[in-house]
Amino acid sequence: MIKERLITGTTKLLGVIGHPVEHSLSPVMHNVALAELGLDYVYLPFPIEPQNLEVAIAGFAAVGVVGFSVTIPHKQAILSLLSEVTPIAQAIGAVNTVTRQDGKWVGTNTDVEGFIAPLQTTYHQDWSQKVAVILGNGGAARAVVAGCIQLGCASIHVVGRNVQKLEEFRHSWGNSSQAAQFQVHQWEELPKLIPQANLLVNTTPMGMYPHLEVSPLSVGEMTDLPPGAIAYDLIYIPKPTLFLQQAEKQGAIAIDGLEMLVQQGAAALKIWLHQEIVPVDTMRQALENHLMVIGNW
Ligand code: NAP
Repeated sequence: MIKERLITGTTKLLGVIGHPVEHSLSPVMHNVALAELGLDYVYLPFPIEPQNLEVAIAGFAAVGVVGFSVTIPHKQAILSLLSEVTPIAQAIGAVNTVTRQDGKWVGTNTDVEGFIAPLQTTYHQDWSQKVAVILGNGGAARAVVAGCIQLGCASIHVVGRNVQKLEEFRHSWGNSSQAAQFQVHQWEELPKLIPQANLLVNTTPMGMYPHLEVSPLSVGEMTDLPPGAIAYDLIYIPKPTLFLQQAEKQGAIAIDGLEMLVQQGAAALKIWLHQEIVPVDTMRQALENHLMVIGNW
């Protein structure tokens, strides 16, 4: 039962910055969690244009914001405005969670934790024998690569359509030990990679609502996916995407992007509240209810 909540003179402020931000699902899950915990906090959406980022963050400090989520287009730009950035966020080159600690802004990235959570909790596997194939080389792919490295996958293949962006993706990891743990490939190499994939992750927006008939793989390419492989789509609307429908027909295990969204949010809430337990099930349920009400699910 969710307790009734009042905004008072002592209510503390959390939120999400982005542009646009009105479609963000984060306020739904965080406010429900805060209410269930009976905490005097509120989580708000803040539409902030790129040119206003610096002044907005200074304003947040001035009014005592406790912490905030960061979404497109600020995930990289925010780095230069922070006093500290955790090693995982540095490795990915993007921050999705900021917290105020001792009068300083500290940034981290909880997308990696969000991505690996359903893989670790539901599918106990010896990842050291598994091959990961990642479609796309944008922002989310960076967290997915870091997640596959954390899982200890035997090999990690990132597949993209733009040679220059693929090379930039590779070089942006420098000569770090992580960089040595994955290879980049052009899209044309997919037929060779799909039959090896134990974990196939779609990090492209292909198939996202309203493009229900779109999949990053052709039906023919998908037929080469080994039965029992895990197909993971970061997209959560529609449920399921065509990519996941195709994969399930092949006997693959399907994971959609909702759990990643929930788990990255839960990880952020733990950081802001300095507590280990947050109501993850309530957050998931709130999102599912919301998505059913707004449709497309
Ligand atoms: P992004 O930075 O724009 O990257 C998108 C990637 O997809 C790029 O590599 C892009 O290639 C590639 N791509 C786009 N259209 C393509 C096409 N037609 N054919 C081949 N490749 C294509 O976006 P992002 O932030 O990584 O987000 C990607 C997706 O993940 C979105 O659907 C987003 O909603 C989802 N996501 C979900 C979660 C979650 O919690 N579930 C978290 C983050 C993101 P180019 O670089 O060549 O353009």
